[in-house]
Amino acid sequence: EMESPYQLIDENYIRSLLKTRLRFSHKGTYGHGLLISGSYGKMGAAILASKACLRSGIGLLSTHIPRLGYDILQTAVPESMVSIDRSDIIFTEYPNLENFDAIGIGPGIDIKCNSIRALEELLEECDKPLVLDADALNIIGANQEMKKYLPKGTILTPHIKEFERLFGECKGPFDRNEKQRNFSKKQSVVMVLKGAFTAITDENGRCYFNPTGNPGMATAGSGDVLTGIILSLLAQGYSSLHAALVGVFIHGLAGDLAADEYGEDALIASDIISFLPQAWKRIK
Ligand code: AMP
Ligand code: MG
Repeated sequence: EMESPYQLIDENYIRSLLKTRLRFSHKGTYGHGLLISGSYGKMGAAILASKACLRSGIGLLSTHIPRLGYDILQTAVPESMVSIDRSDIIFTEYPNLENFDAIGIGPGIDIKCNSIRALEELLEECDKPLVLDADALNIIGANQEMKKYLPKGTILTPHIKEFERLFGECKGPFDRNEKQRNFSKKQSVVMVLKGAFTAITDENGRCYFNPTGNPGMATAGSGDVLTGIILSLLAQGYSSLHAALVGVFIHGLAGDLAADEYGEDALIASDIISFLPQAWKRIK
């Protein structure tokens, strides 16, 4: 009998994947992440993703932003170092990747000509663990040939609309799931299709469903928080699959704890970050 490719993840399984923090460790032990995020009018995405990243165990974070975001980010997230783009308003260049253990790109970057070129170069050059979200995915959706250049092991985190920009309109959830599993296998990437019961697929065609999370999380900035968490885990040395599984589970758990406190209607993305400490404590 063939083994089912589907698996429902739970708290014990996630706990079994976690790394422990070592007594004689230092910042370097937990990695240095580079987050490329934000543009004019969307600096909030960079703040949310940076804070979530720092609340998930990373050693050091550098956030790459356009010049106009400098004061905003330094004030809102003092723990993050800042890398400044030559552009005032968008992403057009990235720093030397040598210094980083993992890279996250997308939340709030916008889709402009120069950003497309910079993303192309990044995909070509990057040999570090990479998570792509939001407008980074929309750029690829609008430039389909870029799909072939995704480095092996890359994590993509589309919601359904972003997924359909990448793969065309789907006939329904089964069609979508098949396309997701096929692409993961063909390109050796981890795909995170976000929504209720987020589906995570790996290079072997396996598909994991996440039970945590609630409709209160259907709110602006919720996905940016997830990107920050996943970047944090990649920088700490989790494999792409484990970073995606743990990240999605903890993000939903923090959202559930936030909803218990505030209710689903009032929940905002910052609340998910506020409940990350409790969520981590519960599964550790
Ligand atoms: P984004 O659309 O990029 O802001 O991402 C939304 C985030 O919220 C994803 O992590 C989704 O899984 C989560 N989310 C949205 N709606 C729901 C829902 N109805 N149930 C559980 N999680 C949700
Ligand atoms: Mg999003």
